[in-house]
Amino acid sequence: MDDTIVAMATAMGETSIHILRLSGSKSGNIIEECFEPRNMKRWSLRENFSLNLGIFRDEEKVLDEVLVGRMLSPSSYTGEDVYEINCHGGTYVAQRILQACIRHGAKLAEPGEFSKRAFLNGKMDLVQAEAVIDLISSRTETAANLALNQLSGGLSKRILNLREKILETFAFIEAGIDFPEDDVETLDRENLRARVNEALVDSNHLLAGSKTGKIIRDGLLTVIVGRPNVGKSSLLNALLREERAIVTDIPGTTRDEIRESVSVGGILLKLVDTAGICESNDLVERLGIERTWNALLKAELILLVVQANLPLTKDELYILNVYAEKVIVVVNKIDLLENEIILSDYNNAHWIPFSVLQHKGFEELEVQIKTRVYQGDVVLTSDSLLSNVRQISALERCDRALRQASESIESGMPWDILSIDLREALHHVSEITGHDVQESLLEDIFSRFCIGK
Ligand code: GDP
Repeated sequence: MDDTIVAMATAMGETSIHILRLSGSKSGNIIEECFEPRNMKRWSLRENFSLNLGIFRDEEKVLDEVLVGRMLSPSSYTGEDVYEINCHGGTYVAQRILQACIRHGAKLAEPGEFSKRAFLNGKMDLVQAEAVIDLISSRTETAANLALNQLSGGLSKRILNLREKILETFAFIEAGIDFPEDDVETLDRENLRARVNEALVDSNHLLAGSKTGKIIRDGLLTVIVGRPNVGKSSLLNALLREERAIVTDIPGTTRDEIRESVSVGGILLKLVDTAGICESNDLVERLGIERTWNALLKAELILLVVQANLPLTKDELYILNVYAEKVIVVVNKIDLLENEIILSDYNNAHWIPFSVLQHKGFEELEVQIKTRVYQGDVVLTSDSLLSNVRQISALERCDRALRQASESIESGMPWDILSIDLREALHHVSEITGHDVQESLLEDIFSRFCIGK
């Protein structure tokens, strides 16, 4: 933390501008040595924020005409003195400026080191830091909005609230252990029960939303399945055409597994390649293939495409029965029907009359997907949506400890036992925001950032 760090904040290559970032106690000196502002009077004012045009030199050699953004401690991203050098976008110039900063005493930053300093200097908690990565990697508007909300501290506030409740309850128990008088005990036990229940209500609410949050962040693993010629490719192509931003290459998944990604109603559908099912004439037979099994098993959403004017095959019925909960039946080619659809086949399933050809059914598909993700009519405000797996599993551990505490209260356990449960809950809720966190975890989190962030 004593070092002054420097990094390119933009990706290398020829571009309009490059930005270098410098942070730390020596950054001011380095800039003074290399940068000659055009407006010296203004530069000397040392305002908290300023943008200054001037010349950047290394020794006597002029390297570029640059814009230097100055953000002085504590009013900067890292909380330290930060300078951002905007230079022209040639790799050579940017490299020379980078080398000059290093020669004058800066150290090349590790991935995520700026954000790690921001965390260590109390500029943001871990929920916000992880939201920075999510914002950078978000692929839909919904995901970006969620990350932005987390970044601005909405979710942190709710977690801190829960932590505060647990902390107070813990303090209350500790006091009870110190003064175990019998007549106070009964009253206090009631009070304690109320406190623990209140914390449980909060953690349950957050956990309920986390399912939605995770889908918004990560998308839904989706399989389009059906016998040949029902219109699977037509459906896929139509979905891809509709989408404003088509995304491929999803981090965290093997590339050959995901065929395409489409955003339907703001939800990312990650389409898993199931050639085995698509091309099969006899699905049940092909289901023996492990890969196919896995695809259906792992899928979070199955779009079973069937043809409206043909009865369901035993294979289609099979999928419908086994995976009822995650299936949406796309009853395609309704334009070929002379009469209304016969409903009996799809009795309990979610199904949508569809015609890719006539562009019917897409809106309903969007509605059905959204209904699933947002869990029906449960109103979920976005500042209560946990989406990060690490944070969710810490909250689950916290919730478990709270439930354990609740059971201990009901069964009249002594206070020092309750204290253990509460301490555990406190530890886990503190892991979420980073109030109580190990160095190795921090390293793991921040190493996922890019250099210069
Ligand atoms: P896949 O084998 O399941 O991928 O099916 P395709 O997408 O290749 O479609 C097979 C045939 O059905 C093509 O000739 C499509 O033009 C046609 N098709 C797809 N959707 C519709 C539809 O809604 N109505 C009609 N009448 N034909 C369709």
